[in-house]
Amino acid sequence: MLNIIQQRINQLRKELNEHNHNYYVLDNATISDYEFDIKLTELQKLEDENPKYFDENSPTQRVGGEITKNFENVTHQNQMYSLSNSYSKEDLLDWEKRILKIIGIEKLDFTCELKYDGASINLTYKNNKLVTAVTRGDGFKGDNVTSNIKTIKSIPLQIEDSFLSNFEIRGEIILPFDGFNKMNAERIENGEEPYRNPRNTASGSLKLQDSAEVAKRPLDCLLYHVVTESTKYETHFEILENARNVGFKVPTEIKLCNTISEVLDFINLWDKKRHHLSYETDGVVIKVNNLHYQNEIGYTAKAPRWAIAYKFKTEQTTTKLNNVSYQVGRTGAITPVANLEPVELAGTIVKRASLHNADQIEKLDIRINDTVFVEKGGEIIPKIIGVNLEKRTSDSAPLKYATNCPDCNTELVRTEGDAKHYCPNEFGCKTQIIGRIQHFISRKAMDIDGIGTETVELLFTNNLLTNYSDLYDLKAEQIIPLERMAEKSAKNIILGLEASKQIPFEKVLFAIGIRFVGETVAKKLVKHYKNIDNLINASFEELKNVDEIGERIAASILNFFSNSSNIRLVDKLKQVGLQFKISEENTNISDKLKNLTFVVSGVFEKFSRNELKKTIEDNGGKNSGSLSKKTNYLIAGDKMGPAKKVKAETLGIQIINEEEFIKML
Ligand code: AMP
Ligand code: ZN
Repeated sequence: MLNIIQQRINQLRKELNEHNHNYYVLDNATISDYEFDIKLTELQKLEDENPKYFDENSPTQRVGGEITKNFENVTHQNQMYSLSNSYSKEDLLDWEKRILKIIGIEKLDFTCELKYDGASINLTYKNNKLVTAVTRGDGFKGDNVTSNIKTIKSIPLQIEDSFLSNFEIRGEIILPFDGFNKMNAERIENGEEPYRNPRNTASGSLKLQDSAEVAKRPLDCLLYHVVTESTKYETHFEILENARNVGFKVPTEIKLCNTISEVLDFINLWDKKRHHLSYETDGVVIKVNNLHYQNEIGYTAKAPRWAIAYKFKTEQTTTKLNNVSYQVGRTGAITPVANLEPVELAGTIVKRASLHNADQIEKLDIRINDTVFVEKGGEIIPKIIGVNLEKRTSDSAPLKYATNCPDCNTELVRTEGDAKHYCPNEFGCKTQIIGRIQHFISRKAMDIDGIGTETVELLFTNNLLTNYSDLYDLKAEQIIPLERMAEKSAKNIILGLEASKQIPFEKVLFAIGIRFVGETVAKKLVKHYKNIDNLINASFEELKNVDEIGERIAASILNFFSNSSNIRLVDKLKQVGLQFKISEENTNISDKLKNLTFVVSGVFEKFSRNELKKTIEDNGGKNSGSLSKKTNYLIAGDKMGPAKKVKAETLGIQIINEEEFIKML
């Protein structure tokens, strides 16, 4: 008999798993985010209070938190293959002929799938539970990225009995366009260079050391292949449909085709329709449907003979480059933009293309009035990939990159090793000033109710603001007479500003807009320096040694505080009453565990595993997912596996219990 607590835990896990599936796989939300959070919090609390019911596949484990320094390289049980490519109808007919000959029959069925463009992953399930997730690597050995993969909500951690219980399932980790664009919008807001394309960003995400960071990325996993000893299913299509029924995200675009001519129809259809998909695809994969025939046809050293990829041609067009304009960001970074003669490409009219920076322009040697080749890859904004030199006129001259700011006309600067040019006129360049104030009030920064980006422009043009600290001098009487403003909206602004005085230090630090100090970096700095004065007084060497702070960020922080105008701004914000030190409740934070690496294993009395890990980090220590020579302590709880103990002993790692850990603090 299950007791009441166990019943409730099981019930919550089941409900949350279902909601996750509805939302992330079926794209059909069945609960509000708010209600979801309430249930998740309840479950987390029950699990924390009852560590004996810990389950590593509980929905609470999806938030991540495990840090992996070096991913373990493991051997695949079954080799992961690549695919042979084809580019024409003839190629496909040849392929069909070859395989029909191998098995000596007249006709075959095929499954057609899209070729998802991301990073391949092998998920191993044992007794219906996800146990490991490993990258393809060289096909024989890959990296164990399980803790990162578990944060992807569309991957079921546990499945029902109706499918198979022990199997491997393979898929592609992708970043859908929506999520990719959102991430980039955020990066641009943080003054960081946007990611180039979804595919590289997805595969880079798998190797992030902090799984909590992975959890924040809108990754998805599309499944396309099952490896099993079982003979329960006879065809590839059937096995995928059944995998979908127990919760795997198998795209509904897949199709069973009885002839190669149907395959060609599928290819032609998706060659056009692919531009409307929510994710990137670069072709179609055609597979022999019958699993028994697949086995008979077999593999080459690198690829299955029973499957072939058909690659779409990337859509390209040519058009004229009319001119190049330049945009200034809030950090002063200049981005060149190509203005093109409007042309149709992949179903949309293209007028602009991104050019990134001066190096890229130089490399392509793009000149005004050139006829350029434009391509639409993963990005929403198309890119220029080259120049049609035959059409270049004899009077053309290399493009001269902007020397002055398009907004304030100040001479641009470019520091050694930096890809971008900057407008150094921080305090006189209108776009930068407005951009910085807009960043300051934004939701992730000071989150000031009542003020939107347009209000900032309005206040600026009416000379009520010259920087973000001026916000706190605003009086209702000054706001009311402005266009679109009234007593109520003015009051809201004043109240919003007052409330922002409680916003925690880490957000304030993010809000003041130091280049390269995004949300995460701000958190790290606050944890390390505790108050603004310590940070202002930190040397380059010290800064550089803070976890995850590199030379580039350190230099930027130093540069920011070496400017007396910035110091004056900070002083004024201090006087106004903003938070510039870590709050009281966060003071159980120290450096006592500095330079120590811990592995946490088993179930604990006083902490949940996540709390324990957080305590380690709050006190300057590091968590690692697996034991290695670099591990200093293994904190052993109840139910720790015997293999871990043996491994720790052979490596000479000190094993401690919960009490001993608490004493260390
Ligand atoms: P390539 O890397 O070009 O050799 O292509 C092989 C890779 O395509 C596989 O390792 C998979 O990661 C990926 N892929 C994407 N979609 C599919 C699919 N529907 N079926 C099989 N492989 C796929
Ligand atoms: Zn400027």
